[in-house]
Amino acid sequence: MSEETIFRKIINKEIPADILYQDDFVTAFRDISPQAPVHILIIPNKLIATVNDIEVEDEVLVGKLYTVAKKLAQQEGIDASGYRLIMNCNKDGGQEVFHIHLHLLGGENLGKLICAEKTIGE
Ligand code: AMP
Repeated sequence: MSEETIFRKIINKEIPADILYQDDFVTAFRDISPQAPVHILIIPNKLIATVNDIEVEDEVLVGKLYTVAKKLAQQEGIDASGYRLIMNCNKDGGQEVFHIHLHLLGGENLGKLICAEKTIGE
C-alpha cells in the first residue's frame, strides 16, 4: 500500500483545499465533509499509508502531527473547550484515504464516542 492518494495532490497544491498550515514535513487542511464545526486533517507530507506502516524513524514526524494539531486547536479557539484527535486504520477503523491523517474535531460537545451509527455487537 504505497500508492499516492488525493492527499498528495493537496500537499502539492494540484487540487484546491483550505490549507491552514504547511511546512516541509506536515500539511493541515479543512476536511471537505466536516463532522463537527471544526474538522481539520493533519497529515505528514511523506506518504505513510496506515498506522501499521509507521516506522521507528517516523516517530518524530508522527509526533509533529500532534504539535501542529495543538497549535491549530488554539488558532480555532477550541483548546480550552476541548477536542478529539482520531487516526483511523484500515477497514474496521473506517479508513478511506490511505495516507495517514489525524482528524482534529471540535467546536461542540462530541460525546463519549464519535460514531453515532454503530451499536456494540452489530
Ligand atoms: P478517513 O475515513 O479516516 O480515511 O478520513 C478521510 C477523510 O478525508 C474524510 O473525513 C473525508 O471527508 C476527507 N477528504 C477526502 N477527500 C478530501 C479532500 N479533497 N479535501 C479534504 N478532505 C477530504
